[in-house]
Amino acid sequence: MPSMRQLLPLLLSAATATSTVAQSPATTYRATERKVNDLVHTKLDLRFDYAKRYAYGQEWVTLKPHGYATDSLRLDAKGMDIKAVSLVRNDVPTPLKYTYNQRKLLIGLGRMVPAGEAYTIYIEYTAKPDELDIKGSEAIGGAKGLYFINPDSAVAGKPVQIWTQGETESNSAWFPTIDKPNQKSTSEISLTVPSKYVTLSNGALVSQTPAGLGLRRDTWKMDQPHAPYLFMLAVGDFRKTTDTWRGKEVSYYLEPQYAGQARAVFGKTPRMLEFFSERLGVAYPWKKYAQVVVRDYVAGAMENTSASLFGPHAQGSAREVADWDYTLVEREIAHELFHHWFGDYVTAESWSNLTVNESFSNFSEVLWAEHEYGPDAGAAQAYRSRQNYLGNPANHSRLLARYQYADKEDLFDAVSYQKGGSILNMLRTYLGEAVFFSGLKTYLTQNAFGTGEPHQLRLTLEQASGQDLNWFFNQWYYRPGHPVVSIDYAYDAARREQTVTIKQTQPGPIYQLPMAVDVYLNGRPQRHQITVRQVTETFHFPAASRPELVNVDADKVLLWQKTDNKSLTEYAAQLRLASRYLDRREALAAAQTQLKAQPADALARQLLTAGLTDKSPVLRQFAIEAFDLQIVAQRKAAAPALARLAATDASVQVRAAALTALGSLKDKQYLPLFTNALANPSYRVQGAALLGLLGLRPEQALARAATFEADNKGSLTVALVQVYGQAGSPAQWPLMRTKYDAADPPTRFSLLGSVGSMMGRTDDAMALTEGITRIKDLTVRYKPYLDASRLIGLLRQIEQQQATRPNAALVAQMVTAAVAEIEAAK
Ligand SMILES: [Zn+2]
Repeated sequence: MPSMRQLLPLLLSAATATSTVAQSPATTYRATERKVNDLVHTKLDLRFDYAKRYAYGQEWVTLKPHGYATDSLRLDAKGMDIKAVSLVRNDVPTPLKYTYNQRKLLIGLGRMVPAGEAYTIYIEYTAKPDELDIKGSEAIGGAKGLYFINPDSAVAGKPVQIWTQGETESNSAWFPTIDKPNQKSTSEISLTVPSKYVTLSNGALVSQTPAGLGLRRDTWKMDQPHAPYLFMLAVGDFRKTTDTWRGKEVSYYLEPQYAGQARAVFGKTPRMLEFFSERLGVAYPWKKYAQVVVRDYVAGAMENTSASLFGPHAQGSAREVADWDYTLVEREIAHELFHHWFGDYVTAESWSNLTVNESFSNFSEVLWAEHEYGPDAGAAQAYRSRQNYLGNPANHSRLLARYQYADKEDLFDAVSYQKGGSILNMLRTYLGEAVFFSGLKTYLTQNAFGTGEPHQLRLTLEQASGQDLNWFFNQWYYRPGHPVVSIDYAYDAARREQTVTIKQTQPGPIYQLPMAVDVYLNGRPQRHQITVRQVTETFHFPAASRPELVNVDADKVLLWQKTDNKSLTEYAAQLRLASRYLDRREALAAAQTQLKAQPADALARQLLTAGLTDKSPVLRQFAIEAFDLQIVAQRKAAAPALARLAATDASVQVRAAALTALGSLKDKQYLPLFTNALANPSYRVQGAALLGLLGLRPEQALARAATFEADNKGSLTVALVQVYGQAGSPAQWPLMRTKYDAADPPTRFSLLGSVGSMMGRTDDAMALTEGITRIKDLTVRYKPYLDASRLIGLLRQIEQQQATRPNAALVAQMVTAAVAEIEAAK
């Protein structure tokens, strides 16, 4: 599950700087929950009160004392009314004594039950998730467990839905259970719902029966054990699209208006099932695989066993879906599916060990990209992950296997996800594909329907490889941080020898780093395997003449920060000779750095120009954005290629980036290019073209904007608002306001500048109030994630622009109040 806190800074980082809130030190050792009783089977019968937002539940939960006899049972049950608790024997209930404190239900069993003897408890209860008293950090991602969406139909056009989110320990807000990841239970969930709705839950739908008064009772049965946090239900007006894989049902539940795109979004699922099953040597173990898209979801997506749940970003019109890149939804589909091995089949024993769930799913995003789109796409995804971890210094002090933490929700960070995924990718290269995956197969087989922690992973990889791996796991899993190195090169002509010196400069212990070094002579690489073990270490390689390139970490998989003391000439050789994505990216980045220091550097310009025709669309876009087109020499070098990319590139992202770059030139020779691109089916391309037109012909841009009013999404919506904000009359403020209010928070941030432009020149007091309030509200709401001073600057700019206009006094007063509120916000 990608958590909201992880997602939000990512989404906002394009618009604003991010800041990290310091964590309070936490030194308590977080032991795995002791097993006194083991869950065996959970049978639930639920009805819903949409008006009160209640669930009325009956539960029959079967358990066994784990290792010792016990006379009591402790269940997690959050914010419920408990109506009855009894022991059920031969269908006869015997009331039991219990105490309940709104969090824990402590039940006296009336006798010592021997270890291993099954007993069944009946509980009648009301779950009241909306009245749950949620404290502290739990409130950030939401911990209600059970969510009623638009239950009273108050919002016209918005679907009425019920869905659940269990991870980490929120499912105990809708059924009493032992809400810990080291428990597993089979399940049978009956849902009585209005018969117009569709239901989804774990396992197979075994019966549907009329339940009177326009109601229907659906029963879902899961006969394989899974952890309580993976239990789910969803109820709503979903339209189901069905595929199959190896005879199993694969289904996609979307709102009816988006059902036509179900296969465009989720249609690769059967092939993913095949690929992951083959690669892992363990066939997808569950009876079916469903994916459902719901409104107002609190995170990105969630791997509920056999029924993954996605937020509303995973549905869209055909044109919207065509504009998505890999990172948006396809990556998530792979991620949640891979959890059905790492997470659902073998589950992290405790939240401290979350890495054995999330690092694997993060790694699967690379595996699928590589399989589906080739090695460049896999490496591009791996690079994004690595940078995501490296980019935030707060990550560098957090352990991957983390037995100390302040809050279990903290584990859902770029360490458990991206650092861990990067480490697995590195381990795959170090051990080799076959050995690595055979080790994973053993891990999955030995711990099937059980739990895992990194030591179990190490032991199975040791078994597969015949090597001790303590050194690897100790440095990567049980210590924080990563190596920071500088790399220096020298050639000794007399000795016919190339040397490479690697110096580790990170604080703390040194790392042991096995890696490949490719030494290129006459265009051909000679590969050497080395292992760095010292603080400073020099390696010697025979070379008859000075090599064109020495490529350290030639597989480009190490998780490290390096200062690579290479000349641009060497990077030019790297771009020409070394074939990997990251080899090329490093060379282009070096050229970009050089051009910032020396804007007229011919070699750097030449490298970036080559980047414009790189086979990776990600690198073509990188090269486009690396040019500074205000510099004449760079403009001359890039512009012809940019015009070609803008008109013909296969990737809509690349086309849009080229149009945006050319738009910054405000050169009328590109007018036909922008005009033609406005007819492109891609919203991205249209949006970039419209802004290009805005720079040249504001009146035409306004006229074209009007023609897009009926159908605009994403980048095109942002462009429309920008056209109105910069060139429109104050009469267009209501159009801008409507689009702003309909946008998600990250899009709203990209609209703020345009709102500011309009506020700077409108004389409508109502519009001024609406605009300034919106800027202020968004800033207050997301203050921890953004650079508030920039937005205060925007408010001050409005005040300045209004200083000579009729509402100057009003605006000054509003801005002062808004700034005070922003500054007071936490
Ligand atoms: Zn996940």
